[in-house]
Amino acid sequence: MNIQENVDLKAHSTMRLGGKAHYLAEADSETRVKNLVNWANTRNLPVIMIGEGSNIIWQDEGYQGLVIVNKIPGIKIAAEDDKNLTIKAGGGEMWDKIVEWSTNKNLTGIEFLSRIPGYVGAAPVQNIGAYGAELSDVLVELEAYDTNLRKFVTLANKDCAFAYRTSRFKTVDKGRFLITSVTIKLAKSSPKPPFYESLQNYLDEHKIRDYSPRTIRQAVTEIRKIKLPDPSVVANNGSFFTNPIINKLKYQKLKADFPEIKGWGHSDGQIKIAAGWMVEKAGFKDFHDKKTGMGTWWGSALVMINEEARTTADLLAFKQKIVSKVYEMFGIILEQEPELLP
Ligand SMILES: Cc1cc2nc3c(=O)[nH]c(=O)nc-3n(C[C@H](O)[C@H](O)[C@H](O)COP(=O)(O)OP(=O)(O)OC[C@H]3O[C@@H](n4cnc5c(N)ncnc54)[C@H](O)[C@@H]3O)c2cc1C
Repeated sequence: MNIQENVDLKAHSTMRLGGKAHYLAEADSETRVKNLVNWANTRNLPVIMIGEGSNIIWQDEGYQGLVIVNKIPGIKIAAEDDKNLTIKAGGGEMWDKIVEWSTNKNLTGIEFLSRIPGYVGAAPVQNIGAYGAELSDVLVELEAYDTNLRKFVTLANKDCAFAYRTSRFKTVDKGRFLITSVTIKLAKSSPKPPFYESLQNYLDEHKIRDYSPRTIRQAVTEIRKIKLPDPSVVANNGSFFTNPIINKLKYQKLKADFPEIKGWGHSDGQIKIAAGWMVEKAGFKDFHDKKTGMGTWWGSALVMINEEARTTADLLAFKQKIVSKVYEMFGIILEQEPELLP
């Protein structure tokens, strides 16, 4: 079966922390996924599927089960008409490879999601998003192995319970579906302004008025280079906290104390506020904590980096420092975006 034993999980998280997996195997086909799940079932072992590990942090205790790394390849055209092209991508493809492929073909829909690390199969889990766009805007359906029903299923967009940085795969059905492919619908037209504020500002400053998928990808790439460290150079999980969503009354109270607070309208009259702004205001931008070996990135306070931490316990201690200080100042409890496993 080619299953490895006692594998260091540090190599399977871009935060580079955590213990060992009892078993780990790669799956490059649907049959292999099914066989690996059966192998684990007969031994009563829990199973988890992962991609690049860019949104997970392993506990120091490691994982006492089978970790399946999705390596299912392929990009296929599923449908085409005058206005749209629909593609089906294997869960083990790099997400950004799909974005590059589509922008090179002048297709619109995922150019705002350029340079997000990770694999295609993980993208629906937290409904990846950036610059006002989300995967759920373009996802048609996905295929997955349903570990409850023990068979492959197809789930339409409406069945995925997508919301801001979440889905049923991260909540009620966490761990149940092993996603093997994702189908997305792209448009044969150009993206239309106005764009997300920071992106629009960049385009205006650089006098870019040719709004093609390719120019948007280039702009997003440049902005992200400053804001986010490359995980292959600096260990990190991207934005460490999600932007809290609060009611209008609470927002008005905060605005009275902190007139420069950053907030945007969200659904149902709620306000989404910038977690990075709060962390920076709490004094944690470009912060380097000698005690834990953790820090925050110079380009964005929202990005926690592992400089020389040795354990996940170190990371959690540093995170708590930030969460406590932000709560003390703003009365808001920050929620962690990357998942702590298991
Ligand atoms: C520098 C940096 C920048 C980032 N920027 C963004 C951003 O702008 N927007 C954004 O939304 N995210 C961002 N992220 C987070 C991350 O890139 C995404 O969440 C990505 O989709 C994770 O992919 P992965 O393959 O690394 O998943 P992993 O970290 O391996 O897994 C994440 C979760 O998905 C589950 N999972 C993985 N693959 C499958 C599968 N095939 N089937 C079922 N479950 C699966 C895992 O069990 C785990 O629960 C960033 C991360 C980094 C490091």
